[in-house]
Amino acid sequence: MIFLKGIIYLILGIISFFSILSDHDKSSETDQYEEIINDYLGIDDGSSTDDYTEADAGSSEYGYTEADSGSSDYEYTDYDDDFDDKYYFYNAHHGSADTPDGTTVVVTIFADDKDYAWDPDSDLDNATKSDVNQYLIVAADYLESVVANYGKTANFITDFETYPDLKYTASFDQQMTKTDDVDYPAWEYIDDNIDMEAIKTKYNADNVIFFMVFNTDEKNSAVTCTRNWYEGMEYPYEIVYLYNFDYDCINGPAVYAHEMLHAFGAPDLYTEDEFYRIDSTVISYVDRYLPNEIMYTCTDLDSYEYTYDRVTNEVTDLTAYYVGLTDHSEVYDEFCLSGNEHFDE
Ligand SMILES: [Zn+2]
Repeated sequence: MIFLKGIIYLILGIISFFSILSDHDKSSETDQYEEIINDYLGIDDGSSTDDYTEADAGSSEYGYTEADSGSSDYEYTDYDDDFDDKYYFYNAHHGSADTPDGTTVVVTIFADDKDYAWDPDSDLDNATKSDVNQYLIVAADYLESVVANYGKTANFITDFETYPDLKYTASFDQQMTKTDDVDYPAWEYIDDNIDMEAIKTKYNADNVIFFMVFNTDEKNSAVTCTRNWYEGMEYPYEIVYLYNFDYDCINGPAVYAHEMLHAFGAPDLYTEDEFYRIDSTVISYVDRYLPNEIMYTCTDLDSYEYTYDRVTNEVTDLTAYYVGLTDHSEVYDEFCLSGNEHFDE
């Protein structure tokens, strides 16, 4: 029996190894593609630039992997190459965040990398951390009201000043602002240091989203993005890489909410994405008819700037459908879109 299990894990390991290889190639292609499109469209929503790379482009990956999670909602997955006894059950169709209907815990990790660090003795850095906490609260309140609009109930627990066990520090000896190859060190840090199942139990949570926050400055060229779930992902952890300062400004609550919506399954609506069948026609439609949609822009349309005390952008039915809040979107049907992880097509 033990021998048989070993063989099964070996086969799963080989399949996931080749899935990683094929994903990597495809995501590089997607990155190039997105860069060209962004250049062409001159799109600027504050949450993306030409540097927008692997982590968010990964949203395209998940339709391409060959892993088949089968008909079961739960998959028995081995994360460790040495086939030790550390196995996890998780919802194989969603990763650590499913739909915002329910309780969501945000775990914030203040991370140092080769270029940027947090100084615990710096008043400025500590003020920035407090701002992050405040923006998370504003984003959470906003998402709770969005969910209520669909007749459902969301409870976000994000406040790491009230709940210090939701705050972590990490240090990486590589550049984490180069978005290539950040997922594995980030996942491994979480796997080694944070007991997600214990957090879910303690807070009676349905979802956990990890915010890895970097103390970047104006020299940073990486852009905030989310490692959202894709089929065959080796760890369940969905991570927002929050570069506090990117794209010439400090990210505000709308960006935080936008990134959390990625974790729940929403795609960007400002850039083409083959997997979701979002093409230039869809983007033109969104630009014309849904110009304040939060997956299209995080900028306040009146001031053309970020707001920091509230979110003025909207979650339209299209995004609500992608995150499982409604079972229907006319735009989705009209354009024959794809990739909703909450409803079978
Ligand atoms: Zn995005």
